[in-house]
Amino acid sequence: MNKLIIFSAPSGSGKTTIVRHLLSLEKLNLAFSISATSRAPRGTEEHGKEYYFLTAEDFKDKIGQNAFMEWEEVYAGCYYGTLKAEVERLWAMGKHVVFDIDVAGGLRLKQQYPEQTLAIFVQPPSLKVLEERLRNRQTETEEKIQMRLAKAEQEMATAKGFDVIIKNDDLQQALQEAERVVTEFIGR
Ligand code: ADP
Ligand code: 5GP
Repeated sequence: MNKLIIFSAPSGSGKTTIVRHLLSLEKLNLAFSISATSRAPRGTEEHGKEYYFLTAEDFKDKIGQNAFMEWEEVYAGCYYGTLKAEVERLWAMGKHVVFDIDVAGGLRLKQQYPEQTLAIFVQPPSLKVLEERLRNRQTETEEKIQMRLAKAEQEMATAKGFDVIIKNDDLQQALQEAERVVTEFIGR
């Protein structure tokens, strides 16, 4: 059975770092679900690699066409969503699909495929450490950092709705724990 492995957490918790590690392990047979977003690319991001970058208008057209498995306005004016066609493409390749999506989207996807899905929450040691990591990453403007931090507290409160919580304090331990729970789940 093709599985869904969802990673959700406040921005800066370490989802991308953990997901990249898992994708590098060929034995797990995972593939990343490339989401659509209406936000602008940042840094070296490319269309069709990190995201499918759409205009807000195109994004809304796709909502109207019922093209999304789930979508959210994660930050004011910024839409993000999982395209049905993307997941079907990866399932057709026989892959287990990994998602890096926000907590609301993660829990909604889990509701749609309860048996097939492992929903993982990545928990930073504290909001203070989260802020440090976001700043050190140097990818966001101060305004965007504030927007992300303002949302983090309410996101942290949703952790108990997930199947597994991985504490990302020591990175090596978090990577090992992620590998362990995902290996166990896809072996079921
Ligand atoms: P997310 O995808 O959840 O926004 P990232 O994976 O981009 O988070 O991680 C945010 C920043 O924190 C990155 O610069 C990353 O290198 C760093 N980071 C991730 N995990 C740890 C950790 N355990 N200890 C210290 N820094 C970390
Ligand atoms: P970023 O702008 O940092 O790439 O992502 C911002 C937030 O949007 C992150 O919490 C990320 O997990 C979330 N996100 C990315 N893609 C999707 C998606 O397809 N659906 C939902 N609901 N959230 C997403």
